[in-house]
Amino acid sequence: MSASPLRSNPAAPLAFQNLIDGRWQPASDGRILEALSPSDGKAFATMARGTAQDIEAAVKAARHAFEEGPWGRMSAVERGRLLMKLGQKILDHFDELAELEARDTGKPMKQARADITAAARYFEFYGAGADKVHGEVIPFLDGYMVTVLREPKGVTGHIIPWNYPAQMFGRTLAPALAMGNATVLKPAEEACLTPARLAQLAMEVGFPPGAINLVTGIGEEAGAALSAHPGIDFLSFTGSPEVGTLVQIAAAKNHIGCVLELGGKSPQIVFDDADLDAALPVVTNAIVQNAGQTCSAGSRVLVQKSIYEGFLARVAERFAQLKVGSHAMDLDCGPLISANQMKRVQGFLDRAAATGVPLIARATVAPGAPEGGFYVAPALFSPVPRSHELACDEVFGPVLSAIPFDDEADGIRLSNATEYGLVAGIWSRDGGRQMRVARAMRCGQVFVNGYGAGGGIELPFGGVKKSGHGREKGFEAMREFSNSKTVVFKHG
Ligand code: NAD
Repeated sequence: MSASPLRSNPAAPLAFQNLIDGRWQPASDGRILEALSPSDGKAFATMARGTAQDIEAAVKAARHAFEEGPWGRMSAVERGRLLMKLGQKILDHFDELAELEARDTGKPMKQARADITAAARYFEFYGAGADKVHGEVIPFLDGYMVTVLREPKGVTGHIIPWNYPAQMFGRTLAPALAMGNATVLKPAEEACLTPARLAQLAMEVGFPPGAINLVTGIGEEAGAALSAHPGIDFLSFTGSPEVGTLVQIAAAKNHIGCVLELGGKSPQIVFDDADLDAALPVVTNAIVQNAGQTCSAGSRVLVQKSIYEGFLARVAERFAQLKVGSHAMDLDCGPLISANQMKRVQGFLDRAAATGVPLIARATVAPGAPEGGFYVAPALFSPVPRSHELACDEVFGPVLSAIPFDDEADGIRLSNATEYGLVAGIWSRDGGRQMRVARAMRCGQVFVNGYGAGGGIELPFGGVKKSGHGREKGFEAMREFSNSKTVVFKHG
């Protein structure tokens, strides 16, 4: 295992400073924040507490890179090569990055490893795609030739959350860079070390100064300054609906577009003809993965009445066997990200108890889990009343709400009965039903006889309703991070 830069080079912790115009530098006022490990609640690193002045410098550097620097003149082939080199570099540093990601977020090592693989895949996928986004030729009037070019937006701003920092780095930056944009990234204050380390690796493979700028810090400071900056041409935001609204308002004031990914209350709907053996581990994992802190977590399981009791008994049995521990213990589930998040999730659990929602199974925190960690054992509630907050609101923790339904029409109604619409899962052997229900789901992604929270680089992803708008992943992300320009030639 290669050594982490945290321990091998403590005198030069580049990962904890801001990257502006190719140089690592402290915050303009020298202030720092502490990075806590969710596994024991202890500080183990520091990061720059970026300021509006740092954002100003980062946007200026990106503008320069885009308009005058080598980045803006680089061909699509060369950009693609750089992205692919970064993908390989990430794999070369696999163990170090997985350890850093696990330590910073608390997620079990096996999850962190999967996330680093996904981060590398983003750069491989978009690196290979950089020279494959072609324009169009449109048949028009006699004597005309019309072409539609696809061009970069310019300077793009990216604000990402703490739940998948390494994956989010790839998901938001790789397509933007592939299209030739110059970028400014503001990772979350709760977990930003892997993005900083990945930016460092990007510099090592040769990204020119200003192509990738990174400013760490607090949302209301660096995040707000970035989203309101008039030098930004497009914004990409993933996080809470509340902050998403602020980002959208800031974008509107500057007359720019944005892509917003704001979470969900995603259902897995299990019909009486489903392969229950196949559904069982997937239904459980979709909410336990990343301690339920996944925008596309399968946080509702909707089960047809005729099989409800039997299937729930099996889910309950699995839940009771789950073990929670530190990232290094590498069990089924890690801690939550922070004391705040723990308090928020505990609030849902307390209110469920106070309102009499039956808690039918609870996992356990393993002996040996370090003191001071932010541990919440997965909980299964059944049956949850349809109007209860556990049936409607995003918990963002390992809490699964089970609800029975009557028939196909009732199941569809219930699936669509929240303000969110991100992902849905359908479990049925009936081909006609699979298609009818998939088409009726109001969301951005549907899985049939499976469920794919996280990963899926090739698959367009995004929401409807309160889950946001715009699409990331797949080739659709390259369209999001580019504009079309129509050029009309009159040749007679
Ligand atoms: P958040 O929306 O507060 O933070 C997300 C990002 O936005 C962070 O980088 C943060 O620094 C930044 N930010 C915060 N305030 C900002 C502002 N005023 N202007 C610009 N940027 C700002 O999310 P959170 O507090 O980390 O989590 C709260 C809830 O959001 C969670 O409980 C969960 O429900 C949801 N969430 C969803 C996702 C997702 O993937 N969809 C991810 C994380 C959190």
